[in-house]
This record gives sequence, structure tokens and C-alpha cells, in this order.
Amino acid sequence: MARTKYIFVLGGVASSLGKGIISASLAKLLQSRGFSVAIQKLDPYINVDPGTLNPYEHGECYVTEDGAETDLDLGHYERFSNVPTSQANNVTTGRVYKTVIEKERRGDYLGHTVQVIPHITDEIKRRIKLLGKSRKYDFVITEIGGTVGDIESLPYIETVRQMRWEMGRDCAVILLTLVPYLAAAGELKTKPTQHSVKTLLESGVQPDIIVCRTEKPLNQGLKNKIALFCNVEPSSVIESRDAKTIYRVPLMMRDENLDTEVLRKTLMPIETSPDLKKWEEFLYKLENPTDEINIGLVGKYVELKDAYKSITESFVHASAANECKVNVKLIHSEHIKKSNVAEKLKDLDGVLVAPGFGERGIEGKIIAIGYARESNIPFLGICLGMQCAVIEFGRNVLGYKSAHSTEMNPDTKYPVIDLMEEQKKIKGMGGTMRLGKYPCKLSKGTIVYDIYQTLNISERHRHRYEFNNEYLEEYENAGMIAAGINPSENLVEIIEIKDHPWFIGIQFHPEYKSTVAKPHPLFVDFVRAALKHKNN
Ligand code: GLN
Repeated sequence: MARTKYIFVLGGVASSLGKGIISASLAKLLQSRGFSVAIQKLDPYINVDPGTLNPYEHGECYVTEDGAETDLDLGHYERFSNVPTSQANNVTTGRVYKTVIEKERRGDYLGHTVQVIPHITDEIKRRIKLLGKSRKYDFVITEIGGTVGDIESLPYIETVRQMRWEMGRDCAVILLTLVPYLAAAGELKTKPTQHSVKTLLESGVQPDIIVCRTEKPLNQGLKNKIALFCNVEPSSVIESRDAKTIYRVPLMMRDENLDTEVLRKTLMPIETSPDLKKWEEFLYKLENPTDEINIGLVGKYVELKDAYKSITESFVHASAANECKVNVKLIHSEHIKKSNVAEKLKDLDGVLVAPGFGERGIEGKIIAIGYARESNIPFLGICLGMQCAVIEFGRNVLGYKSAHSTEMNPDTKYPVIDLMEEQKKIKGMGGTMRLGKYPCKLSKGTIVYDIYQTLNISERHRHRYEFNNEYLEEYENAGMIAAGINPSENLVEIIEIKDHPWFIGIQFHPEYKSTVAKPHPLFVDFVRAALKHKNN
């Protein structure tokens, strides 16, 4: 196998231009030409991982198979490429410094002064090359968080400069910038792009390819102008127009030849052409639905669309699979009361109660679940959503009025959800939950068994609390059954209600595993059930 090529994706002018989507689209294109690709995100903040970050700060925390709490861009990578990521795919400044400081404390630097250059940059380099070292990948695409010119990105840009210098054509740098449209002038403006290239040049990095995010088409004249001012070839100025769906971007990048430019810059053969037939079929189904449903997503972060990113994307995959448009309506759990629940949830064909932590909004979630249970509306509870379903059933079916999770009420008389044994001794917050993939054994004769069509599954987790097995028998006798169990620890991972058309609570997070190539069966079947509910 040829040497691994390293592609860096940096951002200029503004944040939120979609570096993650461009990186994932490039990965998809290279993959569809037969290359193997890994994508990695470097985040310049000091947190060791985003696990301790509030969703308001950083959107959803994405969990990998190996239990890493990572940036939500890794979700895009998996959804586009269908290749699982791991801890190695997300590195933060905090993690880099932690490693270097631990080495220093061990005496590994033999008395030398430990400095940003070379020690921090060497550690960044080591982590970038780690993926390439396995020799599994033709390309490693490394996305660098933040925007060119940020103080905290400097060590990363310096690392890119060093790698580009040391590895020559085995490296290429893509800069994603914004070309704003000024309505008053009726013109697209290239100056901010020119300035961010100048800023990058101050750090010694010349981009090879410039991807321009724009709301209007760039004409060849503008492309030539950017090429001239920024020292790139006109063919290396790529237009990235606003798209109706992120899933169109790989096709747009193919039409703009982003992949061939990367192959050309890294001296790789351009013998094949991308095979995106399956992707195009998915997009066709997504964009030509034959029916439409409304799903209520009950959670407490409704102001922020990135907080439930993997869930909303899973609905997109399930939507294409069912050829049915899914309107996901975010419903603020704090606003749901007994008196208004029927009004708030009317017109819904399915209710999903979201994962979460802490007390805020919990009663609204429980009320919404009671409504879905009694009205026979298809219901999916994920993690905290499943725990709330257990609490609701305890309170309203078993008559344990004060049933609760000990997370919200440590002194409850009925701790139907309780801290897991292994969690009781844990003090620190970061990376200490039950994280990553665990096996689960399904029971025959359940809805989930019908859905998965297999007895043994594996799903990803992120929680500390769990169904309290002391109550299991009573629950099962009253009609809420354990449909899936962790075989070694006997933990209840899935609950179902027997005499409800579709009521499922899961302790794990199926949304982390749904991809374009493999929509998650639970979401696909939830949408099918909601469609059936609507048409009845
Ligand atoms: N707060 C709950 C727990 O820790 C649920 C977590 C979640 O929804 N991810 O168990």
C-alpha cells in the first residue's frame, strides 16, 4: 500500500461554515473511488473531551464504540462514511497538554524545557499520524476546529506547517472560507477570503485548495480572482453553495471536482470515478416522499438544533427508508403540564422523549409519556427518556406516587431508577459514565426482537443510572416488560409495554449508530409505526 496521505481542513472568515460536512463529503467521495479514509477532528479547547460540556456550549456529545465522548462532527463522519470512529479520531488541546504534562512529570523529557514547539506540536503530530500508522488508510482527513487567526488554533496551524514541509505532496491543505453576498452592492465579496489566506500565510501555511461557502454561484471570474490573490490554481477554487440538505454536499463536491483536486495535489491516481449510486438512491427517496408524519421530540434543549443532532439525522435516514417525510417538532419539556399536554401533543404521530441529565423539565417528560401510553401513540424513550417511562409507569400504573430516579430525588421511597453499582464509587465527572458499546440480549416475542431480527445486539451507552431490578417482577406482572438485558450484568436495557401498539424505552443510544448506508432499525420501525398510527 502507498504511503498515507494527510489532508487538513481549516476554516477561515467565520465559524459554522460546515468544515465537518466538507470533510465528511470528501471522505465519502474518496471512499466511493475505492480509497480507505479516516477522518479526525482536532479541537482547540482545553476540556479533555466534550463530555463535560453543556449542550448549549457545544451541541450534542457524540459517543463512539470504544466509549469516547467526542465532538458531534464525528457523527457526521460516521453517518457519511459508515466507518466507526474511536477516541483516536477526536483530540483536544486539553488531551494534548495532559499527555505532555504527564510525560514531564514522569521525567521523560530528561531535564529539557518543555515548550509549545516542539513538544506540544510533536504530540499533535503524533496523534495525527496515529491513524495513518495502522496503514489501514490511504487518506487521513484532519479537520481543525475554530477559525484561522484564533489564538488557540496556533499550535495546530504550526503543526500543519511542519507536516506540509516535512511530507511535501503527501499532505494537502484545504481552506473553507465564506464568500459573502452583499445585497446592497449586489455582489459576492472575496476580500474576507483573501484576508484569511494572508493570515494563514503569516503562519507559513499556503492552502492548496480553497472551498468557498456561498449563497450565490461563483462565476469563473470570481474563481480566477480568488486564485490570483491567494496563490492557488483556478481549478482549486471550489464553490460550496448552501444546500437544501447536508446529504447533497458530496454530490455538489463531486460536481466541483473537490476529490480530483485532492488526488491531483497528493499525486494519487485518478483512474476510477466515484460510485455514488446508493447515495443518489437514498437522496431520491429522501427528496421524493410519498407520505408525511409528525414526530414530537420532547426535550429541554429545544432552542438549540445541534443538541439532538444524531436523533434528528437518524430520522432523516429513517425517512428515506420509509419514503416518508418526517417533521420533527421540538417540544420544550418544561412547558408541558397535565392541563396542556393534549394540546401540546395533538397532531403527533409519534413521541420521542430525549436523553438528558438533571431535574429540569423532567415532570413534563413524564406527563408526555403518560399521554403517549394512554393514547396508544407510538413512543420511543432514549436513555433518560426510557427512565422517565419507567417512572411514569411506576407512578400511574403501579401506584407508587413518589416513584423517581435517585438522580433527581435521592430520598425517593420508590427508587425505580437507581445508580448502577459500578458508578457508586466514582467521584470524577469526565469520562466516568457507562460509555460505549455493550452487548444486549433480546427476548423473543417482543417488538424489538421483530425489529432487529436477531437475539444478540450491541449498542452504545452514556449513563450512570439504570432500571432497579428489585422492581422488575412487579413491572412485568403489570405489563411493562424487560425486552432486552445486558447478559453479564443483568441490567435492563430495553422496556416495552405489552398492550400498547409501539412503546419502547431503551437505555442505550441507537442514534449514534444510524448512517446513510445503514439506517437504524429502531428509527426505521418507529417511523413505520407512526405512519401506521396516522393512517389508522
Ligand atoms: N441522566 C441519566 C443517567 O445518567 C440519563 C443519561 C442520558 O440520557 N444520556 O443515567
